[in-house]
Amino acid sequence: TANVVLNMAFGQHTMAVDTHVFRVGNRTGLAPGNTPLEVELGLERVIPAEFMLHAHHWLILHGRYTCLARKPRCEACLINDLCRWPEKTV
Ligand code: SF4
Repeated sequence: TANVVLNMAFGQHTMAVDTHVFRVGNRTGLAPGNTPLEVELGLERVIPAEFMLHAHHWLILHGRYTCLARKPRCEACLINDLCRWPEKTV
């Protein structure tokens, strides 16, 4: 929550890792990690500064509507060619 407030209210380049962001970070290979903190630090390392203000929302929405937990919609995923998850369906 603190990271969301810092990001949205104060424009700081923080990354809040919820269940969606954690899953997407791991599946895509963007920021693999065993804990939310590992994924958070990994995402902060690889996401360019100019995208950090909105990256949190993009990752959440991707996890909520495309990279679903039980049945990811890989066939409709815009980054399925880049995703490194061995279990992706395309
Ligand atoms: S290809 Fe599938 S597993 Fe990979 S990010 Fe897209 S929806 Fe998720």
